[in-house]
Amino acid sequence: MKGLLIVLSGPSGVGKGTIRKVLMKDDSLKLSYSVSMTTRLPRAGEVDGEDYFFVTKDEFIKHINNNDLLEYASFVDNYYGTPKDYVEKLRNEGRNVLLEIETTGARQVMEQVKNDDKVVSIFLLPPTFSDLEARIRGRKSEPENIIQERLQKAKMELGLKDLYKYNVVNKTPEQAAEEIAEIIKAASK
Ligand code: 5GP
Repeated sequence: MKGLLIVLSGPSGVGKGTIRKVLMKDDSLKLSYSVSMTTRLPRAGEVDGEDYFFVTKDEFIKHINNNDLLEYASFVDNYYGTPKDYVEKLRNEGRNVLLEIETTGARQVMEQVKNDDKVVSIFLLPPTFSDLEARIRGRKSEPENIIQERLQKAKMELGLKDLYKYNVVNKTPEQAAEEIAEIIKAASK
């Protein structure tokens, strides 16, 4: 049976990565994470091929032109995109593939798979906007102008939460992961 395509979005800093790591530990969910391609530089601790495929702008553009990407978007001065082949291959093997992507790309995916009833879209929300700001600042990896851009972008993205089938509030990573696990289990039946 073909696996699910799970689109997980939420503003920068909401904790998508942490929740993904909790979910990936649960083998019963049959989850495979779709590693994206980006032109952003790695943050401390990020591993090429695990967190992202880190590429140059020229390489990224080559992949766009070769039609290698399921979707892509520009986000705060960098490109991010989902390699297409990997997603299809894994879904055909019955794996539930998790895309952790921003809203522009998510809309492209949802448009392409309109008739696919195995698509699950989830928007992750912070308990409050100040929680989000504290998390983005707490990362201490970006200069103030980039932080401001990410905060603006977050406000815009929060306005798109109703495009998604499910909204989950991240009060703690364990609780949010549990809610998402239940959504995945229900959709897999
Ligand atoms: P970050 O720089 O914080 O890792 O990611 C910035 C934003 O880009 C996040 O919202 C993240 O989910 C999103 N993102 C990561 N990979 C992709 C992708 O392949 N496509 C799209 N459209 N967004 C992505």
